[in-house]
Amino acid sequence: MVGIFIALLICPQPSVRSQTCDTTTLRAIEREAVRAPMGYTWLEWSTRSIGHRLTGSANGRRAEESADSLFRVAGMRHVAFSPFQATAWQRYSAGISFAGPDGVPVPCPTVALAMTPDSADIRALVVDVGNGLATDFDSLDRAVHGAIALVNLHLSNAPPGAVNLHRSEKVALAIQHGAIGVVFANAVDGGVLLTGTASVTNQPIAIPAVCIGKEDAARLRERLVMDKPVHAHITMRNSSIPITARNVLATLHGTDKAEDVIVVGGHLDSWDLATGATDNGIGSYSIIDLARCYVALGLRPRRTIVFALFMGEEQGLLGSTALVNEWARSGQLDHVKCMINLDMSGDPSGFNAFGPEHLRTLVSKAQQDMRALDTTYAARASDAPWLHSDHQPFMLHGVATLNPICDLGERVYRCYHSDCDDLRLVDPAVMASNVQRVGEMLWLLANADDLPDHFKDEELRSRLVAGGLEEKLRLHGEWRW
Ligand SMILES: [Zn+2]
Repeated sequence: MVGIFIALLICPQPSVRSQTCDTTTLRAIEREAVRAPMGYTWLEWSTRSIGHRLTGSANGRRAEESADSLFRVAGMRHVAFSPFQATAWQRYSAGISFAGPDGVPVPCPTVALAMTPDSADIRALVVDVGNGLATDFDSLDRAVHGAIALVNLHLSNAPPGAVNLHRSEKVALAIQHGAIGVVFANAVDGGVLLTGTASVTNQPIAIPAVCIGKEDAARLRERLVMDKPVHAHITMRNSSIPITARNVLATLHGTDKAEDVIVVGGHLDSWDLATGATDNGIGSYSIIDLARCYVALGLRPRRTIVFALFMGEEQGLLGSTALVNEWARSGQLDHVKCMINLDMSGDPSGFNAFGPEHLRTLVSKAQQDMRALDTTYAARASDAPWLHSDHQPFMLHGVATLNPICDLGERVYRCYHSDCDDLRLVDPAVMASNVQRVGEMLWLLANADDLPDHFKDEELRSRLVAGGLEEKLRLHGEWRW
């Protein structure tokens, strides 16, 4: 509590913040983040009491409601749901079998990827498309037509400089080349199966796509390299129904620059194979704890901060896209100066900042201030654009975006989108560190004298091209230049 009073005493006027004042507040944030962290406790409760947080499911609705309650418990007074319409996909069953050498089908453990058809029952030859990049499909000419494409999720023996595509982009290529099904080969030892959306458009796709384990894929390939044709049989049943889901927004009003907004967001929803403790429990419950930390310290930033928990991220950035579109229509997006996205964030070692030049200067200065207080902070910096998380719709509207640079370790990443993404993987300290590092960066940006306007459209275009995103955005139908 002492830190609160020191901060309030030394910083009576929000508009006249000296370096000393910021230093005091940063120290107070650091203390509060580690003194009484609640993020892990809330995440633990959520994984035990709710389970997964799939958008459109009863669990998803409970997660929305409990996030609303937790923001209020954290002391936030302006908390609201922001509903949106979406197509909610849910799995019922999926199966795959490969005809053995004697023609007898041998079933293989599998899971369906999301946005696949409500029902499918197909039999076809398996064609190995390797890494599933555009060049891989092109080299096979028409061999994929009418076949089931076997594709690596991760790059394997790729040519130098090759850049992997998202699974949904590989499915889009498979459909373009006439495949009637896709089998993804995971790269994780131990038969781990991965789910995730297979659609670049957020709409259900026309062909089944499933994932099989690394070892089963290797056995299948052993047969294929002997030039033995292998037939596969894929079945699945899912449902895609229109639903209303809700983002949860908690607002901390600013002082002399209150019309400017910084969004600190992350997705609350998860896949249904496990509890999504790391994707993205650690990010979303850290955000609620960050709000608690600011309230506990009595912090009043110059700019308004919106703490945003999005639903529907996993099914295609549905909640964040709906919010950005709504704010673009109302003109509110013009006031959003920056979006900080926490997706699988833990123990940040720096920040990736994608924005006009002036943003990088500000972030770099903020990193120096943070490092001056704590020399263990690596203050890593990068400025790369990237896709497939909730900053994307903000970024494509020209808003500057930040994300913490993190390394959660192989133990976590092997369970990404899999049935092992549970609380055992979460270290409470990495969540407290989220609150500290993001809380410090947020404070410095929210009180900066000036933040850059949105990207000029032509500058955004050239930065996206330089970042290698043109091909991907074209596959998504989101390349507007
Ligand atoms: Zn995620």
